[in-house]
Order: sequence, then structure tokens, then C-alpha cells
Amino acid sequence: MSYLADKILQEGLILPNNVLKIDSFLNQQIDPTVMKAIEEEFYAYFQNHGISKVLTIEASGIAPAIMVAAHFDVPMLFAKKALPSTLQKDAYYQTQVHSYTKNTTYQVLVSKQYLSPADQVLIIDDFLANGDAAMGLVDLVAQAGATVAGVGICVEKSFQPGRERLERAGLDVYASVRIAAIDSERQTISFAPGH
Ligand code: 5GP
Repeated sequence: MSYLADKILQEGLILPNNVLKIDSFLNQQIDPTVMKAIEEEFYAYFQNHGISKVLTIEASGIAPAIMVAAHFDVPMLFAKKALPSTLQKDAYYQTQVHSYTKNTTYQVLVSKQYLSPADQVLIIDDFLANGDAAMGLVDLVAQAGATVAGVGICVEKSFQPGRERLERAGLDVYASVRIAAIDSERQTISFAPGH
């Protein structure tokens, strides 16, 4: 079992609606050993994909994304959930994302300056559930005329449709840990094989 899977079993809490709380090592406090393991794993899988940029969404994707970007020695870009006062209208790509955990829909945006048609983009996120966050990032990449070279996910909830949606869109998806089922009554988690 991987270090991340072990941490999930030891410290993960199951909240209503199959939400897994892993604030002690990924979503608030961050365990560098978890990050290091993920970074090496994603690098090993995507190293021949010609990655020129790593893209994520604030806030929880930033920690794994910066680690992976450092390993590839490429910039890391994160989509913002609020329009910065420094960004002119029409100077950004924008799309809508529905938040699984907050059950709200919000705009995410990146400056047009930082994505170009030549970019081969590796999308990174902490969780994959229904796939809305990842598909929003895919849309931003498409607006720039750039290419999605792959999607790297720390924790995939395989009982939700995100993975299938991304693969149907022709994307190469790699998940460090895949969760097959969560039982909130018994507070148990079972893992799916593969990545
Ligand atoms: P999706 O857009 O694929 O439905 O959900 C992915 C996004 O929702 C991630 O960026 C993550 O922030 C959040 N998310 C989805 N499921 C969980 C979960 O079980 N636990 C936590 N902490 N975040 C989740």
C-alpha cells in the first residue's frame, strides 16, 4: 500500500455525501512526505509527455502542483476563483465550475498571458469526484488553443463519474490513489486497483 493510501486510512474522516476529509496532510496541513511521493509518481508516469506547464485550481491543488512542476522544471499556473483587480477585462480565459464539496457554481480564470497554443499542459488536482473541476481546467486549456498532455490526481473517488468523463474526452488520467468505496456508517474505505 502506498504512503498516501496509508495516511488516508490512518487519518481520513468520512463526512456526509462521501466527502473525505484529509486536512491533516493534504487539504490544510501538508505532509511533505506525501507530496514528495506524489511528485515522483506523477513524474515517472508523465515524463515522456512533453509537459511545458502544470495547471491546477486554487487552493488545494497548489501544493501538489508546485511539487510536480518543480520536478519537471516548468512553471505552475493556478486558476483563480476571484478576479484580481490587476487583471483587465478580456485579459483572461474564464469558465464555470460546480463545486462538489460546497455545492455552488463559481467562475475560474487564468490570465491569457500564461497559456499559449504551444503549451502541453499537465492538469493536477487533489481530488477527482464528478470531474467538474478538471473539466473546467480542460476548458481553459482549450480556450488557449493549448493541449492537455495528461491529468494527475492525488485521490480519485472511483465510484463517482469523473474518471469516466475525462477518459471519454480522450484524456490520459493517472491517480495516485483510487477509492472504490466509502462506507460512512462504518467509517471504512476500500481502494480500487491500478492508477
Ligand atoms: P469534482 O469537480 O471532480 O466533482 O471534485 C473535485 C474537486 O472537489 C476537488 O478540487 C476537491 O477540492 C473537491 N473534492 C471533491 N471530493 C472531495 C472529497 O471527498 N474531499 C475533499 N477534501 N475535497 C473533495
